[in-house]
Amino acid sequence: MPESVGEFDLIARHFTRPASRAVLGVGDDCALLAPAPGMQLAVAADMLVEGRHFVSTVPPARLGHKALAVNLSDLAACGARPLAYLLSISLPRADEDFVAAFARGMHALADAHGIELVGGDTTGGPLVINITVIGELPPGQALRRDGARAGDTLWVSGRLGEARLALEALRGQVVLAGEDFERARIAMELPQPRVALGLALRGIATSAIDLSDGLLGDLGHVLAASRAGATLELAALPRGAVLARQDPALQRLCLLHGGDDYELLFSAPASRADAVRDAARGAGVEVTPIGRIDAAAGLRLREPDGRESEVEARGFDHFA
Ligand code: ADP
Ligand code: MG
Repeated sequence: MPESVGEFDLIARHFTRPASRAVLGVGDDCALLAPAPGMQLAVAADMLVEGRHFVSTVPPARLGHKALAVNLSDLAACGARPLAYLLSISLPRADEDFVAAFARGMHALADAHGIELVGGDTTGGPLVINITVIGELPPGQALRRDGARAGDTLWVSGRLGEARLALEALRGQVVLAGEDFERARIAMELPQPRVALGLALRGIATSAIDLSDGLLGDLGHVLAASRAGATLELAALPRGAVLARQDPALQRLCLLHGGDDYELLFSAPASRADAVRDAARGAGVEVTPIGRIDAAAGLRLREPDGRESEVEARGFDHFA
């Protein structure tokens, strides 16, 4: 950009688009939304910090996509329909090329889900991105973490572990061929929030969570909230083609402890397996049964050879 740009130029050029669903969008002190009568609002926020949640070399358009995707994933996990979002961003400098590409990636995903940016805040500082999403759903229909019951089947959407595999490659822990690295990077940088699946699972799933901190840790949150245990089948965990070619110890790490999957982990009564498959087909997402909820506390992992061992349901913790 030839001349220097200010905060208000950035907002006007990249974060202001005509409001279509909102009564009032960017530009005033508040945005105004008109939720459908009788609906509850579902609200979630997720923050991305440079060096913590993403590397500085990530293409800005992918960063814009991911910042919104991780938030939409939270709405998906609750079975909420997204309505609108707010963006608060702290930027080290007014780099218009960066902001333009970031906004392009973010708006493209927003358009795909029919939602719009209605406000936020822009400031100078380290690169930090916080998005708040707002969705709606009928009262009593939210998918929650506390509804899993003994005997339910545990399901997961998509495939797990390749985002973690990309991270291991970036850290130099594993060498991937160029094409394989690019595929794993796409899993890490362009997650697809499972919004349609979350909506389709309302009334079918007994509990749900989106996988952001690794399967074992996130399953642990569901088990704690539901006061239940579970048994997982290691061989059943769906993995992408690139991960399937890695050595078994690395596969295990990426599947069980890999963060950033943004797939849905959910439980449903065993008798509703056909309804789950129909919901997934309608949403265009693959789903795989990976275990079951037990009355007995604790998490058991069944190895491919049939041996069973108790594992700790712990995921990533920023302060551990
Ligand atoms: P205020 O002084 O009320 O805090 P600001 O000057 O921060 O308002 O922002 C002006 C307008 O631009 C507001 O409507 C605000 O919601 C919007 N805005 C600021 N930053 C962003 C952003 N990053 N994305 C979307 N809207 C933004
Ligand atoms: Mg402000």
